[in-house]
Amino acid sequence: MSVRVVARIRPLLKQELDKDVIVTSESTEGEGTQPTIVRIPNPKNEAESFSFQFSSVYEQETTQQQVFESEVAPTVKHLFNGYDTTIFSYGPTGTGKTHTMRGGKSLADRGVIPRLLSNIYRRCRKIEKDTSGATHVSVTMSYYEIYCDRVFDLFEPPEKRTASGLPIRDNHGKTVVVGLREVPCTTLKEFETLYDQANINRSTSATKLNAHSSRSHAILTVKITQTTEDSVLVSQASAIDLAGSEDNRRTDNNKERMVESSAINKSLFVLAQCVDAISKKQSRIPYRESKMTRILSLGQNNGMTLMVLNLAPVRSYHMDTLSSLNVANRTKKIEVCEVENEPIYRSMVKPLATTSLAAAGGTLSRQPLRP
Ligand code: ADP
Ligand code: MG
Repeated sequence: MSVRVVARIRPLLKQELDKDVIVTSESTEGEGTQPTIVRIPNPKNEAESFSFQFSSVYEQETTQQQVFESEVAPTVKHLFNGYDTTIFSYGPTGTGKTHTMRGGKSLADRGVIPRLLSNIYRRCRKIEKDTSGATHVSVTMSYYEIYCDRVFDLFEPPEKRTASGLPIRDNHGKTVVVGLREVPCTTLKEFETLYDQANINRSTSATKLNAHSSRSHAILTVKITQTTEDSVLVSQASAIDLAGSEDNRRTDNNKERMVESSAINKSLFVLAQCVDAISKKQSRIPYRESKMTRILSLGQNNGMTLMVLNLAPVRSYHMDTLSSLNVANRTKKIEVCEVENEPIYRSMVKPLATTSLAAAGGTLSRQPLRP
């Protein structure tokens, strides 16, 4: 199974209403069907255009609800069946990555992350009800950012950060962040409080492109543990809001911003190199050259993987749009392992208390299946 790549074109912002729209979508099946093609002019010769095909292309007027229902809701069933899932947004700054993942405050504006959690909690309650409490489902989460190639726990206040951030290491072929908080979270309300505070902790800073441009990659991991009298099944969903892939020559960055920007661009550059190497089936994939690529480990054990390529349709983004389209176009060829986490049975690991059984499930049950 390969990475599912979809594009989402955001509407024009107020200050863009008189700007030239150069990114358009088309469907191959005719009028009224879901578009799958993004078209953009060749910057060297505007008489020509390039087209890129994705699994779906969401046009300007697509709602948050539609993106969630079509792309993310179908993955929840797999998650509860023991498969891991990964969703990440990619694209230049100001194209709607954070809007897609986190979204706004109002119910209608909520992005895929709060909707995913709402869906997860609903399913937890349904499972517990349907099994008359014989299956207990618990949800824990961790949330961290990678900023200038350093990892910071977003559940900790910024003053508790050490300059070098948290170390990462390999654990049975999986990259883990050492010392990260894993917080139990039993209701949507609890999640919202935790998530809002964490987002305040996230490093943001103004640039010319976007007043609240996120300069870091933010990674939320939601772990689901389903416990019955004799088994424990653990699976996890990761939702990643990447920093902007823009070229820092356009942003008039000062020196500090340049340092940030080059660290961001380096990790995204390494990501593009990884994507390139994987799609060319090269033996050496440069994952280890940045923390973000080590953690994302695209094409390794991500489970079902969705990339949302966020695009702004106006001319000022022309070159950045084109380069992100090229990365996304290669990403869709990447094969991912669906990780089916097998339940751990009490009879297999006797004698163990529930808590240590759950802990065993967290580390021992991750076995990649053949795709
Ligand atoms: P990014 O995270 O990619 O830098 P943002 O999510 O911050 O971009 O979006 C940039 C601006 O565009 C924000 O003001 C956001 O509210 C707006 N925006 C993005 N996508 C949409 C959308 N689909 N509908 C309405 N506004 C959007
Ligand atoms: Mg953002």
